[in-house]
Order: sequence, then C-alpha cells, then structure tokens
Amino acid sequence: MAREVGRFLQVAFSELRRQGRLDLEAIETAARAAMHRAGATALEHLLKESGPVPDALPCACGQKARYRQKRSRQLLTTVGPVRFERAYYCCDSCHQGQSPRDRELDIVGTEYSPGVRRMMAVVGSDASFDQGREQMQLLAGIEVTRKAVERQAEAIGSDIECRAQAAIRRAVQLDLPEVGGKDIPVLYIEMDGTGVPVTAAEPEGRQGKNGEPAHTREVKLGCVFTQTETGRDRCPVRDESSTTYAAAIETAEEFGRRMYSQAWERGWSRAAKKVIIADGAVWIWNIADREFPGATQIVDLYHAREHIWQLAGKLFATDERRRKRWAARMQSILDAGKIEALVKQLRAFPAPSLDIGDVLRTEAEYFERNRERMRYPAFRRQNFFVGSGVIEAACRTVIAKRLKQSGMFWTVRGANAIIALRCCRLNREFEDYWASRAEAA
Ligand SMILES: [Zn+2]
Repeated sequence: MAREVGRFLQVAFSELRRQGRLDLEAIETAARAAMHRAGATALEHLLKESGPVPDALPCACGQKARYRQKRSRQLLTTVGPVRFERAYYCCDSCHQGQSPRDRELDIVGTEYSPGVRRMMAVVGSDASFDQGREQMQLLAGIEVTRKAVERQAEAIGSDIECRAQAAIRRAVQLDLPEVGGKDIPVLYIEMDGTGVPVTAAEPEGRQGKNGEPAHTREVKLGCVFTQTETGRDRCPVRDESSTTYAAAIETAEEFGRRMYSQAWERGWSRAAKKVIIADGAVWIWNIADREFPGATQIVDLYHAREHIWQLAGKLFATDERRRKRWAARMQSILDAGKIEALVKQLRAFPAPSLDIGDVLRTEAEYFERNRERMRYPAFRRQNFFVGSGVIEAACRTVIAKRLKQSGMFWTVRGANAIIALRCCRLNREFEDYWASRAEAA
C-alpha cells in the first residue's frame, strides 16, 4: 500500500515540476486510482484462502466432493480487479466442481463482486446501459462493458421478479399474514397501460393499440397510495411517500394477481375506504371487479371530459363557437354526475352522417357502461380524488423515462427485469432486498 502511495506522490511531484502548476482533476483521478490499487492489494491478501482446508465436502448429488487444489480466480471489485486463490473441490461421482469460498463471498458464477453488481443494478435501472457503463467509469473509476451492465441489471431484476412471483403465489393461495399497522382512512389503486417498444420477434402477432406502432407490447402499471387528510377546501391530499408501484408486460389476469398482492401488502384489508381510479379500459375494470370487489370505482374525470371534447370536435368540426358551447354544456352534465341525462343527449343528437352516428353510439355506450363510476359529486362529498394523475405520472417516470427512449428495443424478459428493478427501487425496497440476498448467500 505504501508503495502505491509513494508511486502516486512521485508522479504528482514530477508533474508539478514539469508544468509548474497542479492540475487538480488529473491528480485527484490519479489519487483515486492509486487508492484503488492499494485497496485491491489489501483485498487480495484478505481473500486468499490459506491454511488447512477439509479434504472433502458434501456434493449436491449426495456424494462427496474431494479437495483437488488451490485455484486462482479473477474478480472485479469496487476497487478494481483482484486475483486470489481458493480451495477447489470436485465430485468423483458427478464431476461437479465447487469452491465454498465463492459461496461465502456471494460470487458463484459471476466475475463481479457484490458491490460492483449493486452499482450495475442501480445505474442500469436509472439510465441506458451505455450511460450506466459511462457512470461506472466516471463516478467509480470502474471499467465494465455496456453488455455487462445489461446482464447484471437484468439478472438482479429477474431475481427481484422471482421473489415477487413467490409473494403473488402466497397471495393467491390466501396464505398471507395479516398486515398490521396504523389505520388507513382511504387506500387508492390506480391502473393504466402504456406501450413499450420491443424487438421485432416479440409482439407475437399482436396489433399496436392506441396508435402505437405494431412493435410494442403493453406494460400494465399500477400504483397504490393512501390518503389520511384533506387540505384546504376539503381537497384530498396524498400521504407523502405513500406511493408504491407494480408493473409488467403480462396478461390482465396475471397483472390482477400482482396488484392484489401489492394492495394486500399495503394494508388493503384494514383500509376503511377503498378506491380504484382508472380510465375506461375494460381490462382494468374486470380486474377491479374480480380482485377488489366492494371498492369504489372511479373513471378519471379528466379522461371522461376528454371523451366529450373529442366528440365535440367531430360533431362541430368547422364551428368552433358551437363546439365549445356544446362541449361545455355536456361537461357540466358530466361533472354533475348526471350520466343518464348525458347519455340521453348523445342518443338524441341528430347525426349528420353514418360515421358520426357510430361515434355517438360508441360514446353513449362508454358513458352508460361507466355511469356508476362517474358520480363525481358523490365522490367529492367523500373527499376522494377523481383524477388518475398519479398513475399518469408513473407511466412517465417508471416506464417511459427509462424504457421508451428513442432507438431502444426490448425483449419482454429484459423489459420485465428492468421494470421489476425500477419498481423495487422506487418502492424503497431495494436496500432491504439486497441485504436479505446477502443473508441468504
Ligand atoms: Zn456430485
């Protein structure tokens, strides 16, 4: 270690003599590299397995693995590459090799230390894998490839998803511990779908929806949050840091179970009032009916208003004054929750063409189907939120910001791994996950 420091000082002083001034950034970078090399040397000493080792160990096949020799291996750590020796065992019967030291250090089957793997998971969940590689280099002085960041981030995301699946299975089998905690006056679930670009092989013949290009798959996204207080004018206030997310590219049925598991963990069973807010998508209300019976269902008011304004645009394409007047009138009927009256207006509207007649019918059906989810005055009397702003923001922050950058194409498996990792981090569960993982090793 002293040698590394000495060498560093030598370089710094000779630079100073040569240039007559100090280039701080060059020196701090060189100092960090020297400290890393010194640390790596210390690690090599610590990791080296010396002294007596057992002659044989149990093998997974039931037979014994016999000690063969000390084997050398390389590992990339947060202080750079290290090389060390550890005891290697091989089974006479099944020829499976093993090094107990690797298990102890949590480095079986990987060339990266736990510290480096955690860094790769964090940078790979926040930005593109190539930006992640750059950050590792700039921020930590560690050289890795773009592909390595991708592999490690996805491996950790997949492991997180595995655990989520185990929790979901327990939830489905009703094998759930009662979740204790303080009372929850109102618990909300919001759900939505958003497209993610996938590689050409992935869409499995699905057609693009909502004007998305065909090579997309829908990520189903949900969030859970609570409301304890109302603010000025009795407006609902979302509890700070109470929002958690769950998302995946999967069927509505699978996603329904995922949301059920998440809601249960958040205290669904002891919430005094339960509310589900979404746009009009049928799959969402199917989940609400199946997994969350008894919850108050609300169609996002702004989404419903949008239906009216878009319809008005078609009915009065060239007459702005009449368009605005008509839409404002319909909107006030909607806001008043008088959906039967609104549907009546739409059905009675004299359609100027067959096409517009179809549009009017579709819209009338939309409002009729969702009428009980549009009793806005009743919802407001209970101080409920009536907009799905939280899930719309989540579509951007959880999904779009990371997965919908231009030129990005995902496999379903890769996208789901990174989505699981992002949700875990946004839910403030990553540190616990990482700690429990080290304990299990
Ligand atoms: Zn064996």
